[in-house]
Amino acid sequence: MDIHEYQSKDLFAKYGIPCQFGRSAATSEEIISATEDFPQGEVVVKAQIHAGGRGKGTFIDGYKGGVKVTSSKAEARTIAQKMLGNTLVTNQTGPAGRKVQTIYFAQATNIQKEYYLAILLDRATSMPVIIASTEGGMDIEKVAEESPEKIIRLYIDPLLGLQAYQARLIAYSLGFEGEQVKQMIKLLMNVYRLYDEKDCSQVEINPLITTPEGNIMALDAKINFDDNALFRQPDIRALRDLNEEDPKEIEASRHGLNYIALDGNIACLVNGAGLAMATMDIIKYFGGSPANFLDVGGSANEEQVTNAFKIILSDPNVEGILVNIFGGIMKCDIIANGIIAAAKNVALRVPLVVRLEGTNVALGKKLLQESGLPLVAADSLTEAAQKIVELAA
Ligand code: ADP
Ligand code: MG
Repeated sequence: MDIHEYQSKDLFAKYGIPCQFGRSAATSEEIISATEDFPQGEVVVKAQIHAGGRGKGTFIDGYKGGVKVTSSKAEARTIAQKMLGNTLVTNQTGPAGRKVQTIYFAQATNIQKEYYLAILLDRATSMPVIIASTEGGMDIEKVAEESPEKIIRLYIDPLLGLQAYQARLIAYSLGFEGEQVKQMIKLLMNVYRLYDEKDCSQVEINPLITTPEGNIMALDAKINFDDNALFRQPDIRALRDLNEEDPKEIEASRHGLNYIALDGNIACLVNGAGLAMATMDIIKYFGGSPANFLDVGGSANEEQVTNAFKIILSDPNVEGILVNIFGGIMKCDIIANGIIAAAKNVALRVPLVVRLEGTNVALGKKLLQESGLPLVAADSLTEAAQKIVELAA
């Protein structure tokens, strides 16, 4: 799960990680009241979306920049009104962009230098890793590619947690001296404590800055949480913003379906994550492009299959559906009945290829055949994929 910058900064404040004074606003009235709390002078206006690269982004009406430093409250209000409700496109949003539904006002800070700092879960070693660099503020992927020697990596034993000597090592490696080493150690320890206690999969600060007065602080904040741990993090769960999620994915999670929207045109309805991955691979292999990942699970019922079809068909990009079911726990006749029920409920406007195998396969095929539905049956996965790619083209 992702949260907004302003929510991340609230967590930073609770964990003693220094950042600027800030206020969020979701309506025109709140824009006025939020800015009233600021002292005179510069205010930074920041569009809140679940994507980075906002500073260099452009709104769909041509207005440039989702992060703006303004010289007065009045100017900050005018700019915030322009951003609120507008759609921001950045290198992380895709061409459709994201609608801005909240604005964050932050006190402007003089920046001496911008650094990069993140703690994330390294799945290869099953360990949290600290990534730090003196080259902050910009694209860290680009730094990693062009000057990998400028990226510091330090692995943390999850049983021991971050040790003071490791934090010191990071501080020295970033070139800090004297008083700033102490500040940096404290900050790192606090960021790790947040990462650990709140079941984060990533805490990223880009940029982490030093001010001319010698203070170290977080200017941006991006936190991701491990979905599988959300059951024990009620306060984090409460931060979920459904506006930022694909409505199809929200609907799917309501019915216990594992659904992830993709940008292709062939929808897949599969049982089991491994089979779903293999189905997407083979669609690609035959020149097609999957519109989604959908795992209906090992024990889906007729109602879930019907809902899965509804979700798939609500995607205007879908030009064909491939159902690939291996009946183990899930019997093929249940799937067949689900398909028939769904077809009665929603107009099947695209070609449908069905491949069933396993328990009760003969009964399942018979039910489909007798239903009179305009579907194409396939016996093997290869045949099924070839047929749907051909029909959807
Ligand atoms: P994004 O990463 O989405 O572009 P950031 O929060 O990192 O958004 O902001 C982009 C840039 O804007 C920062 O690198 C920094 O130069 C500037 N900036 C952001 N917040 C402030 C602030 N409070 N004071 C001064 N400059 C800021
Ligand atoms: Mg940033």
